Amino acid sequence: MIETAAGFRRACAGIRAAGAGLGLVPTMGALHAGHLSLVERAVSECERVAITVFVNPLQFGPDEGLAEYPRDRDRDLRIAREAGADLLFVPPERQMYPGGEPAVTVDPGPLGRRLEGASRPGHFAGVLTVVEKLFGLAGECRAYFGQKDAQQVRLVRQMVDDLNSPVRVVGCPTVREPDGLALSSRNRRLSRPERAAAVCLSRGLFAARAMGARGERDAARLAGAVAGAVRAEPLARLDYAAVVDEETWEEPGELTGPSRALVASWLGRTRLIDNVVLPWAEGADRPPGRAE
Ligand code: AMP
Repeated sequence: MIETAAGFRRACAGIRAAGAGLGLVPTMGALHAGHLSLVERAVSECERVAITVFVNPLQFGPDEGLAEYPRDRDRDLRIAREAGADLLFVPPERQMYPGGEPAVTVDPGPLGRRLEGASRPGHFAGVLTVVEKLFGLAGECRAYFGQKDAQQVRLVRQMVDDLNSPVRVVGCPTVREPDGLALSSRNRRLSRPERAAAVCLSRGLFAARAMGARGERDAARLAGAVAGAVRAEPLARLDYAAVVDEETWEEPGELTGPSRALVASWLGRTRLIDNVVLPWAEGADRPPGRAE
């Protein structure tokens, strides 16, 4: 286990100096099977794997439960080792932000202010700043992120492209409970009735996916199916349901290519998000000039 930024930088440099490829799995801890799927993928593709566990204060709004975020370092350490991680970076806050809140942060751009960014002002600036700091310490590597947070993956990719970080971003599929609920560290805060109700997010997304498979191309109808499933659940309070083009992340009137349905909803005091890819038939027409 490494607790200092300098120690983590040295350890990652040592791995590369030995000629090994490095996989990086950034997390906020409270590890579950979703996190472990990223570690397994990293272990299968990289010779050495580092997991970072850091609850990043910069990405939490004032009322977003930073203090209540689940923390269980000993359990995380054990699980990470069992999953095959070689390095565990668990920095205290003063190692990541020695001078307190940083004066220079990453601006996530226009997409960072829409959807999750509209509901959580400043969230993606906080995420990208800490991810860029981790990339700066780790150096050249493959970094694994979950598509459960699809907008985050998209913004990290954009950052890597725009800022020339020496990192290959790998997006990994969402791991779900048997009833469809996406695994999340926040699920443990749900009461029993809220947990039962929380399945309305994936129910709505799966309904939209089925409509997409039947050829529905009207984005408002697809997003409406997601919203309808959440609104039908008395314990849920919808934040947003949206359909975006997978390439541009714009919200189209009609789908013109692979797309994603997204949802955010409150269950009591817990805010959950989820998304699915909407199927797009092979060979379906795309308007001219668009990349495949
Ligand atoms: P977090 O600890 O919530 O910041 O998540 C750390 C990483 O795990 C992020 O890349 C998440 O997208 C990913 N992750 C969280 N939940 C899941 C899940 N259910 N399936 C796959 N990846 C996930």
